[in-house]
Amino acid sequence: MPVPFYDHAKLYRRRQAEIDGAIRRVLESGRPDWGEEVPAFEAEFGAWLGVAHVVTCNSGTAALKIALKGLGIGPGDEVVTVPNSDIATTSAIHAVGAKAVLVDVDPDTLTMDVSALRGAITPRTRAVLPVDLFGHPADWPAIETVAREHGLATIADSCLALGATIGGRKIGHFADVTCFSFAPTKHLGSLGSGGACVAAVADLAARMRMIAAYGQDRSRHVGMAKGGQPLRHETEGLNERLDEMQAAILRAKLPDLDADLAGRRRQADLYAQGLANAPVDVPSAQAGIDHAWRNYVIHADGRDAVRERLATRGIGTALSYAPPMHLQPVYVGLGLGPGSFPATERSTDRLIGLPIGPHLDDDQVREVAEAVREAVVG
Ligand SMILES: *Cc1c(COP(=O)(O)O)cnc(C)c1O
Repeated sequence: MPVPFYDHAKLYRRRQAEIDGAIRRVLESGRPDWGEEVPAFEAEFGAWLGVAHVVTCNSGTAALKIALKGLGIGPGDEVVTVPNSDIATTSAIHAVGAKAVLVDVDPDTLTMDVSALRGAITPRTRAVLPVDLFGHPADWPAIETVAREHGLATIADSCLALGATIGGRKIGHFADVTCFSFAPTKHLGSLGSGGACVAAVADLAARMRMIAAYGQDRSRHVGMAKGGQPLRHETEGLNERLDEMQAAILRAKLPDLDADLAGRRRQADLYAQGLANAPVDVPSAQAGIDHAWRNYVIHADGRDAVRERLATRGIGTALSYAPPMHLQPVYVGLGLGPGSFPATERSTDRLIGLPIGPHLDDDQVREVAEAVREAVVG
């Protein structure tokens, strides 16, 4: 039985009536833009997270840019981040004119090495931007301590960690701004593109909301449509808003999020059982952490041969964020060659992303685990 890495059509079919209904609601509202779906989704998503301030936008990449701009980070500033992430992380920093300073990761969690962060801080450092990789949160308590000591802003790239917790508190409650993605493959997937910034403080949220929307307050748009207030631009902004259609679709899918997260945790347990004593490194969560399991990433010697054997059995795997950013052609100019970040490179040379998520049933996960056991012994 083939096991696809993703299956969007299957996920649509399981909620077809709700998704069709959401799309029809937007079409019939006559308000394809600046309607009620975006504010309603922001309220519902905020309630799910237990946070007061959600600013939606049109991608995780946009969320990172809006967070940086909202915090006033720009040319001359340095932002410390990690090389094993989506290119969105570094490109957002460069898009606002700041400089990305890369540091290595902890070999167990694959998230920012906090002692490396300490070593990278200069007088120009303005912010730290850790990545909650694969759904395992960065060491936020330690990062918050360093940030406080040095007066740094904190931005979480939590695009892979929706639903993760530290000490029972959900991700979204740690950094100054937490960034999420609603790309179709993420925990809560739109059928296009979407993202969100979660802020701890109301005036930062208001600034980000304005930046995401042409530098204009929503009330002005809604008022103008009703023939009321004149245009009034208070700052230069982007046009990176979530659209009504995606907001309506996300509202239809949000009720499944808890069950989907529980399913991912069950699948991760099945993998751990199925791969026990196999010659591979299986991922685990640190004490006090609830992993969100956006990815189930093992590490194995002879990685490419293992992936090929799995592919011949119809099992989809992924090179999740490998090779790392500092070895990508776009960043050759940084002069950070092989060996610059040993923990990152040891991971990205050996990692294999296995299929996980609500499009799979438990038997498929057991089958993949069995196939991996056979593939690693050759
Ligand atoms: C997906 C992702 C992003 C970017 O999100 P988009 O919605 O695709 O723009 C950024 N960072 C990480 C770690 C991601 O996984």
